[in-house]
Amino acid sequence: MLALLCLLGQGVVAAEQSRPPRLVLQITVDALRGDLPGRFANVLGDGGFRYLMEQGVHYTDAHYQHANTETIVGHASLATGTVPAAHGMVGNVWFDREQGRLVYNIEDARYRLLTAGADVDAKTEIDPTQKAAKVDGRSPDAILSSTFSDELAVHYAGRSRIFGVSVKDRGAVSMAGHAGKAFWFSKATGEFVTSTYYYDRYPDWVNQWNARKPAMAHAGKSWELTRKPADYLFGDADDRAYETDFPGFGRTFPHAYGAADDKYFTTRLTLSPVGDELTLDFAKALIVNEQLGQDAVPDYLAISFSSTDYVGHLFGASSLETEDNLVRLDRTLADLFAFVDEKVGLQNTLIVLSADHGQPEVPGYLHELGIHGTHYFDTKALNKAPAIAALKQKFGIGEALIKAYFHPYVYLDRDLILEKGLDQAAVEQAVAKELEKLDGVAAAVSGSALRTGGLPDTLLMRSILRNFHPKRSGDIFLVFEPNIFINDFDGLTVASTHGSPWRYDTFVPVMFAGAGLQAQTVSRPVTPYDIAPTLAAWLGVKPPSGSIGAPLVEVLGEPAE
Ligand SMILES: [Zn+2]
Repeated sequence: MLALLCLLGQGVVAAEQSRPPRLVLQITVDALRGDLPGRFANVLGDGGFRYLMEQGVHYTDAHYQHANTETIVGHASLATGTVPAAHGMVGNVWFDREQGRLVYNIEDARYRLLTAGADVDAKTEIDPTQKAAKVDGRSPDAILSSTFSDELAVHYAGRSRIFGVSVKDRGAVSMAGHAGKAFWFSKATGEFVTSTYYYDRYPDWVNQWNARKPAMAHAGKSWELTRKPADYLFGDADDRAYETDFPGFGRTFPHAYGAADDKYFTTRLTLSPVGDELTLDFAKALIVNEQLGQDAVPDYLAISFSSTDYVGHLFGASSLETEDNLVRLDRTLADLFAFVDEKVGLQNTLIVLSADHGQPEVPGYLHELGIHGTHYFDTKALNKAPAIAALKQKFGIGEALIKAYFHPYVYLDRDLILEKGLDQAAVEQAVAKELEKLDGVAAAVSGSALRTGGLPDTLLMRSILRNFHPKRSGDIFLVFEPNIFINDFDGLTVASTHGSPWRYDTFVPVMFAGAGLQAQTVSRPVTPYDIAPTLAAWLGVKPPSGSIGAPLVEVLGEPAE
C-alpha cells in the first residue's frame, strides 16, 4: 500500500511538471556564498530560505567553473547556461581594443536612460566598475549568447511577459536578456529606471511607484539589529577594525542612512537590507501591474538582490552585518513567496534561487583565528616592481608596454609590440613570468598560450580558458593566492573583494522550489550553468544558444521508461 501511494505520489508530480508553470521566478542573491544560508539557519524564520531548503530541491555543492567570479560574469552565466568564453561577459569591465578604452559591461551609448538626471554620479559612485562607463546608456547587446528568457520569448511568439529587476543595472539587464524588460535602481534619483532599449516612455505604474518615493521613507532612519545580540553567531563581534568605516554609516549598529539630501543617502540604502526591500516592493508592483502568471503562457521574472554583495564588501562574510542582512533578506524572500502564492500560486510558479558568485573571508578575520599568510594585494607593486625594469631591459619598453590593468586582465600595447618588431606571444610570456615573481601572485597566464593550448591541464587553467574571449580578454590573466585580493575600490578601502577562481568565490547555492517539486537535498556536484538548460527542458523550449549545462535530473524527474 505504501509503495502504491509512493507511485501515485510520483505520478502526480510528473503530471504537474509536464505542465508549464505560469511563472518562472529566478532569484539571484548577489554574492551569497553556498554555505551562508545553512550557516545562519539559526536566525532565519519560516517561509524564506527555509521554504527553499526544506521544501525544495537544494543543491549543496554548486560551483562556477570560470575564473573571474564577478557580478556580470555570474549573472550572464545564470541567464545563458554557459561560460564567459561563450557569452562574452568576461568581467565587469574590459578593455575595448577598437575604442581604445575600458568599457563597462552593459554600457551602450545608443540607449540612454529614460530618466533625466538618473545617470551615475561619478562624485558619489562607490562602485569602481560603474565609474568605468563613459555613457549612461544601457543594453544587453554585449551578451553574445541567448538567455533562457530569450528562448521563452521566441518559443511563445513574444507572448511571455519577461522582466528583470535589481538595484544593480547589470543584475537586471543580464537576466531580462535581449527580449525582456529591465528596471534598476538609480542612486542619483532614488528611483527605479530603465533605458530606451526597453521603453520609449515609462508604464504608468512605474511613474506611480516612483512618485511615491519609497526610498525617502528611510531618511533619518538607521539599519537596526533585528534580533537581540545573543541570538547571533557574531553578536559580540560588531566592532572590528578591518570593517569599512563608510562615511556616516560606521562599523557598528545602528548604521545611519542620513538625511534625504545627504549625498550618500541612497548609497547607504544600497549598503543595507533596504536595497533589497525596495527591490521587492518594486517587483510586487510589477507582478500586479504587468499581470504576471495570469494566463497559460508562462511569464518570467528575474529578481537580483544586491545588498548581500555590498554588505559583504564592507563588513565581510563573517560579520554581524552579514548575519543580520541574511535575517532581513530571509524576511524579504518570505514576503515575496507569500505574495506570489497569493497572486499566482506557488504550485503554478517554478522558483530557482542561486548567486552570481561567492565571497572570500576578510584577512583580518582570518588573522584573529591564527590563519596567516593572507593580506590585501598592493596594486602599486605592479607599477613599481623591478619587473618593469627587467622588461625594459629585455624589450626596450617599460611601463608603456602595459596599456591597461583592470583585474584580472592585463592588456599589453599590441601596436607598440608590433612597431618594435617583437613577438606578441614572447612578450606576453616574459611579462607573465615577471608578474609571477610578485608576492601574492599565484599565476599569470598568457592569452597566446590559451589560444594555442600550450598550458598544463589543471582546474585553474581550465577556469581561465573558460573565461577567455579573444576580443575582450586581456593578454595576461592574473590570479592571486587564496585569500589575497585587492581592496582598494578607487579610493574606498573595503574589507573584502570576490573575483577569484578559488572555491569560496565559485561556491553558490542552487535551490528549486514550487511547481509541485518535492523536498530533496542533493550533494552531487553541479554547476550554475545547469540552471538555464533545466528551465528550458522543464518548459520544453530549446536551450540558450551557448548553453553547456546539463538539465538537472532531480528537478525534472527521471526520464520515462
Ligand atoms: Zn556580484
